[in-house]
Amino acid sequence: MPAKKKSAKLLRCPTCDMLVRFTDEDFPFCSDRCRKIDLGKWASGVYKISSPILDPEVLEDLGGLTGGRGKDQNNDE
Ligand SMILES: [Zn+2]
Repeated sequence: MPAKKKSAKLLRCPTCDMLVRFTDEDFPFCSDRCRKIDLGKWASGVYKISSPILDPEVLEDLGGLTGGRGKDQNNDE
C-alpha cells in the first residue's frame, strides 16, 4: 500500500479524455475550449437524458401505437 499524503484528484476531461487536476482552473475540463465544446454539445442536444418523451417525433410514435392511425387527430379531408 503506497502511503501517499493525498492522491491528487484527477478526472478525465469529458471532452477530450485528458487528465485534469482537481485544482485546475477549468476543472473538470482541461481547458476553457473543452468546456465550451461540452456546453455546445448540451445546447445542440447531443446529450439527451431526462425528457426524450418531449420529443415531438416520439410523441407521434406513441400516438401511433396506442390509438388508431390519427384517429384522435383532426383529419384534413
Ligand atoms: Zn479537454
